[in-house]
Amino acid sequence: MTQSVPQPLNPPCRILMGPGPSDTHPRVLAALGAPTVGHLDPYFLQTMNEVQDMLRQIFQTQNKLTLAVSGTGSAGMETCVVNLIERGDRMLVGVNGVFGGRMKDVAERAGAEVSAIERPFGEVFSPDEVAAAVKAHSPKVVGLVHAETSTGALQPLEEIAKIVHDAGALLLVDCVTSLGGVPVKVDEWGLDAVYSGTQKCLSCPPGLAPVTFSQRALDAIDARKTKVVSWYLDMTMVRNYWSDSSRAYHHTAPINMNYGLHEALRLVLEEGLDNRFARHRRNHLALRAGLAALGIEYAVAEEFRLPMLNAVRIPEGVDDVAVRSRLLNEFGIEIGAGLGPMKGRTWRIGLMGEASSSRNVLLFLAALENCLSAQGASIQPGSSVAAANAFYSSAG
Ligand code: PLP
Repeated sequence: MTQSVPQPLNPPCRILMGPGPSDTHPRVLAALGAPTVGHLDPYFLQTMNEVQDMLRQIFQTQNKLTLAVSGTGSAGMETCVVNLIERGDRMLVGVNGVFGGRMKDVAERAGAEVSAIERPFGEVFSPDEVAAAVKAHSPKVVGLVHAETSTGALQPLEEIAKIVHDAGALLLVDCVTSLGGVPVKVDEWGLDAVYSGTQKCLSCPPGLAPVTFSQRALDAIDARKTKVVSWYLDMTMVRNYWSDSSRAYHHTAPINMNYGLHEALRLVLEEGLDNRFARHRRNHLALRAGLAALGIEYAVAEEFRLPMLNAVRIPEGVDDVAVRSRLLNEFGIEIGAGLGPMKGRTWRIGLMGEASSSRNVLLFLAALENCLSAQGASIQPGSSVAAANAFYSSAG
């Protein structure tokens, strides 16, 4: 067979303002290219320790079992589910978007008896309805999505955590999109099993899934009667690899991905969590001001809007695909399409991590105006950029 070698890769430099991945800082890209060492090399073991330590700070937890699962956010989801669930255990899942739906599917595959509470896309669950469902189903685990990337809605958790614990259950939470963009207070709120992903507000390419387990969750894992159904994601083994005392080989960790995450977490902590959350909020509000000047509305009620994922209604008569293609091809800007029932009706504009900047907000608004004009929409040129600029000036 003749062999053929394609040209080397030369990926375009996009501006990633979709639902993830987000823009990556050059320091993270440089870290990914550092020399690979062995997965039990003392240098790498030290790297792992530092990754764990920084993740604890960002999850705002003292949880010992805090580490980066080798795999994307979905691997984090499966890790949390399969370690807490044994065949026949009851799990209650909140489904108000695509990722709640995925969690339900994962729980069913893990052998849980799943009950779901549902809300239309864009809405969130009230403590009362969670309380009623917990009472009706007596689950071992309750699973919720903190930041539903498919809808742009933020699920408040604090009150619900108390309800779940009072009923003797564990709270499992998807923080893939929230971590690093809004507060995730694992200890203060009492979250038991939490997973995230690297490619959203942590601004590291996709490939690792930070997870953390509370003592309550660890007790449940230690009390299991059966083996975890996934060999790869079994925390009873993986934790020995990440533990400073045992360091037993389990799998070969993606060394360079961990370098990248290490640098991304350093960037988060250098900025400071509060400053980072404030930056995400400020750029979200500036974008909102600009979009309002174009008459573009949000799909989610103001109090539950995610600052890092702006789900907005596509104006009447505007061609969804044509606008997104022009944004990408003419301006190098990626935004996301709507998912599920929001497909064709919403755009998802990400302002995650590195991508949450005034430069991106102003650039995007100017580009969007251009795309809308090309579609024949009647807009006042420059109005959205002026509105966003006015917001930035007034906010200081
Ligand atoms: N959960 C949420 C809320 C997400 O937004 C995503 C990805 O977009 C996932 C889970 C799955 O993560 P991944 O695509 O990295 O596997």
